[in-house]
Amino acid sequence: MKTFFIQTLGCKVNQYESDGIASSLEEKGWVYGKGGSNTDVVIINTCAVTSKAGMQSRQAIRKIIRENPNAEVIVTGCHAQTDPESLKKIDHIDHIVCHKDKNRIADHVASTCDDQFPLIFKKIDRTKANAFDGFPHAVKGDMTRAYLKIQDGCDAFCTYCIVPYARGSSVSMLKDEVFQHIRELDDSGYKEVILTGIHVGMYGLDLKEKSSILELLNQINQERPVYRVRLSSIEPFEINEGIINLARPENILCDHFHIPLQSGDDDILKKMKRPYDSIFFKDMVQMIHTILPFASIGVDALIGFPSETDKQFENTYSLIESLPISYLHVFPFSGRKGTPAYHFDEKINENTIKDRCAKMRVLDKIKRKAFIDINMNQKQEGLVQNKPDKKTGMLKAITSNYLTVLLNGPTDVYGKVLDLVPEQCDSDLTVRGRISE
Ligand code: SF4
Repeated sequence: MKTFFIQTLGCKVNQYESDGIASSLEEKGWVYGKGGSNTDVVIINTCAVTSKAGMQSRQAIRKIIRENPNAEVIVTGCHAQTDPESLKKIDHIDHIVCHKDKNRIADHVASTCDDQFPLIFKKIDRTKANAFDGFPHAVKGDMTRAYLKIQDGCDAFCTYCIVPYARGSSVSMLKDEVFQHIRELDDSGYKEVILTGIHVGMYGLDLKEKSSILELLNQINQERPVYRVRLSSIEPFEINEGIINLARPENILCDHFHIPLQSGDDDILKKMKRPYDSIFFKDMVQMIHTILPFASIGVDALIGFPSETDKQFENTYSLIESLPISYLHVFPFSGRKGTPAYHFDEKINENTIKDRCAKMRVLDKIKRKAFIDINMNQKQEGLVQNKPDKKTGMLKAITSNYLTVLLNGPTDVYGKVLDLVPEQCDSDLTVRGRISE
């Protein structure tokens, strides 16, 4: 029996692609092992979003090579795509594989790594039309909620971001394939599909038969191929009233929007090349909150961008503080070689960035608590996860508005949607509730 092992770094898109490689290999009779001297193939799916992520990717590769001395070693992902030279310095890597070839890794491995399905590293060529390279079947991870990558790449070139260089221009999965994959997931018992991508709001713009994320969501809402869908994230300038309305209780979209704000200061937003200002963002969040008062609104904040003054940081802080935001993801700025911001002057001192991030993380806790409070004693639907909560052993349900609620109940409700009422919030913000009749 041939075995493989995959280590994944980075974002949900990488995780989806690793799951796709794993399920394609399992279909071919390979076994997902735990790693070790008997492993035949190891795959490391790397990340390049920060310089730390690149370093962690190289450390992971070295460690895996040590722990799997007899395995063929395949390295892929954003770090492999953007900095293959640094990987060539590491001994015992057999293949550095570009993003476009990820869906061919299983064929290569299953042909016992011969030359019939060679893996060729290609640089991203933005001058040529790109194609969406997906997996032929729906990707099923080991979670109750399934991810579906419907879009890849980005054309926005925000000045701090390495992603357009790593993943090329925006490409979309054909609409028919989107439906085919969602239906496969529904047939396998998934109740929720998370539509993911690098810049999901650009969905459909590259297709021969032009479409848009709103059009796709409208069609999904009409056809109902699965119980509910969630958007992994969406840019502020790509949310509109139509999309928000699709998250009303009678519709299919979860009332949860994850929106990269990055900065609440207009000058910093310009330097980041983000096409909106703080007033636009404020109006957009208020529109969501007016239409959907219980919706979860998460934001990303990028702290310590070159030249960010105390006052500019305060602008970000007070914008978020003033809005009905439910949670924050806080990222310290990290210059990525190859991006414009890497060369910007007035870099912010590391300790200042740390202090600002710490302040934002305190705000995150305040926001989370306020969001939990408005949800207390409100009856809502929750999808019970297939595994219990690790700490308490209780059932763990996720609501449409992305609240995790722990419940007492039988395990035969795993994977089912049931009514629940959040009743109590612990000091660590764990929410407990009861199953409602
Ligand atoms: S929209 Fe900006 S931040 Fe997002 S992937 Fe594209 S370039 Fe990067």
